[in-house]
Amino acid sequence: MTVITRFAPSPTGRLHVGNLRTALHNWLFARANGGRFLLRIDDTDRERSEERFVDAIRADLAWLGLVPDGEVRQSERFDRYEARFAQLVDAGRVYPAYETPEELELRRKVLLGRGLPPVYDRAALKLGEAERAALEAQGRRPHWRFRLDESAAIEWKDLVRGPQRFDPAALSDPVVRRADGSWLYLLPSVIDDIDLEVSHVARGEDHVSNTAVQLQMFAALGAEPPAFAHAALLTGSEGKLSKRLGSLGVDHFRETGIEPQALVALLARLGTSDPVEPFATVEPLIQGFDFARFGRAPARFDEAELTALNARIVHQLPYARVAARLPGGMDAAAWEAIRPNLERVAQVGDWWSVVEGPVDALAPDPEDRAFLTRAAELAAGIDWSSDPWHALTAALKDETGRKGRALFLPLRRALTGREHGPDMAALLPLIGRERTVERLTAS
Ligand code: GLU
Repeated sequence: MTVITRFAPSPTGRLHVGNLRTALHNWLFARANGGRFLLRIDDTDRERSEERFVDAIRADLAWLGLVPDGEVRQSERFDRYEARFAQLVDAGRVYPAYETPEELELRRKVLLGRGLPPVYDRAALKLGEAERAALEAQGRRPHWRFRLDESAAIEWKDLVRGPQRFDPAALSDPVVRRADGSWLYLLPSVIDDIDLEVSHVARGEDHVSNTAVQLQMFAALGAEPPAFAHAALLTGSEGKLSKRLGSLGVDHFRETGIEPQALVALLARLGTSDPVEPFATVEPLIQGFDFARFGRAPARFDEAELTALNARIVHQLPYARVAARLPGGMDAAAWEAIRPNLERVAQVGDWWSVVEGPVDALAPDPEDRAFLTRAAELAAGIDWSSDPWHALTAALKDETGRKGRALFLPLRRALTGREHGPDMAALLPLIGRERTVERLTAS
């Protein structure tokens, strides 16, 4: 079987971290199984869909490195939906209903008041020709419901949740089309999944009850259903479904210096039995990816965890991946010397200015003045071609007997203007002889 997955956002807003996670799961699963990953733009709602959000969805996926193998738009498939809809109407699986929202709400309340589940009573199914004609003559336009088959339980084996079972009698016949002819999400999605030969639908567990009715739609349209994987939802770090998560998207992560690799590494493993690890490349995440490794408990998205993971990934990023974002003049050796001190790539400029100077030297302790003067003299004379830091400190140690902190710290303070920072052995060749001598002399 060819694996085909799809990510199906509605372009009515920006993607949030939960959407990004769903997209990633679909992409990883397709990659892990030599399959294809499709982007489906769910833009049947013409009023709320906006082109700028379509562009933003593509850009956000590209930022994460998730390039679709194909793209379809629901707004280009209305003819197809019309044809399949007509078949279902002919087969009696879709029927017109005329209730107003107020009438439906009233019936719901009555049922709830009697302690009964608020399932639609199918009154519309019992209308005769004449009654329908009378309603239409009053100017009522029907919306359309899919008639569920009550003869057997709806069952499937969810790749995350295990065996699932729904009693169709406990579900309302879902509305699939509005009175103005516009489509609700459920039926077009099934028609698309059939036509695109989608093999696996991975989405959030908020869709579990949709899956129950969609399974019957696949059957009614004469198609085998895909496999389903419903991941538990993300919660905020405080453990609750958080509003904040709904507003966290790529712009926020980019602005706060999060690398796409960090977000990918976190979202690929969050909620699974595998540890979150600082993978700077996606291959190891693809290799182990399996829906069976996901748990059913809500997965906790913690920004502090993401920040820490980001730092560990920045420490591994190769020069070629960041070169375009580095200050002019920084080469691979400079990047490698400085990156262990960064939590975010954007902090590199700060350390680079320490190399290039001028630095605001920290005033030396009086007892270090002579030591630094001697260091300046030695620095002018050592061999700078291989390991000047060791040459300099070894010579100073021999002469002064200083070691450890007393040897290193006054040098670091004079040379960088700071108490902490990158490994001096890596930094000194970047600072170079001239600036080293100058800074030591000035102290
Ligand atoms: N447009 C739907 C949503 O964003 C797609 C759900 C699905 O994956 O089927 O919720």
